[in-house]
Amino acid sequence: MSSLIDTYGRVHRDLRVSLTDRCSLRCTYCMPHDFAAWLPSADLLTTDELIDVIESAVAQGIDEIRLTGGEPLLRPDIVEIVARINAIANPPKLSMTTNGLALAQLAAPLVDAGLSRINISLDTLDRERFKKLTFRDRIHDVFAGIDAARNAGLKPVKINSVLMRGVNDDEAIPLLQWALAEGLSLRFIEQMPLDAGGAWSRDAMVTADEIFAQLSTVFTLTPVEVRGSSPAEEFYINGGLASVGIIGSVTRPFCAACDRVRLTSDGQIRACLFSMVETDMRAIVRNAELTSEQKREAMAKAFQATVKAKLPGHGINDPTFIQPTRPMSAIGG
Ligand code: SF4
Repeated sequence: MSSLIDTYGRVHRDLRVSLTDRCSLRCTYCMPHDFAAWLPSADLLTTDELIDVIESAVAQGIDEIRLTGGEPLLRPDIVEIVARINAIANPPKLSMTTNGLALAQLAAPLVDAGLSRINISLDTLDRERFKKLTFRDRIHDVFAGIDAARNAGLKPVKINSVLMRGVNDDEAIPLLQWALAEGLSLRFIEQMPLDAGGAWSRDAMVTADEIFAQLSTVFTLTPVEVRGSSPAEEFYINGGLASVGIIGSVTRPFCAACDRVRLTSDGQIRACLFSMVETDMRAIVRNAELTSEQKREAMAKAFQATVKAKLPGHGINDPTFIQPTRPMSAIGG
């Protein structure tokens, strides 16, 4: 049972770990194509430091870990990280969110190391549009990555898609038809105000209601009753077992059931994606004056204090909302 309980009674069991802020794509809704304000490499947690913090989290009841980025597969030690998390006593369930570009090479070794589930980002099926959206001509690598993930036995293989008005919002139905044909689980995610360029606009965002309405012109969608702390509202399709997820982060927030806490690649913990405050774990793990036991105690206290100070929700719909300075690419999904 997790001991990471906030003042609203939310029990935190899920740690999202950003392994790097670097990425092999330049998705327009995430970072400008010429973005270069990367975190200093010296500030990034080493493999040992990362495992120390993760062990502390697991000791306090975290039983799910999602590895994210930037792009997590850019970490040269990614297979080692997965294996060492999987070797922790009472290991947490392990998943990853990736752009899939390097999966064709890494899916099998990641599964051997203990990875079980994966989410792959794909916002279009069209090669030219992919190039426009990501400034890279690499859609074929994503498709090869999806195949490799399935062949390696990752299950489920989920596809995350972000729709933008006038850009790819005409692809909701083709994306779902493709996912159904491929046996993949698709989730649409509302675009959130966390881009590195600060260019997010509510008008350009395609809302959960709009996505539902568009899909309902072709599919009969029936709500899946059980949701729990899952960000996605799931809907059965045409009365069958296949389902589609819609994540209304902005317009249908799910903060009341949030069970997530986050670790950034430079060793900061955040109670929420939209936190304006962070707790410095890197300073603890690198404090040469502390014994290992003292470090464990200090990390436990830091996790507890971070969760205790958690706000009820993201506040995006409040007139006082301020977009955090740290972009999504340096926080992780
Ligand atoms: S916005 Fe923050 S509080 Fe809300 S679900 Fe996401 S991480 Fe949790």
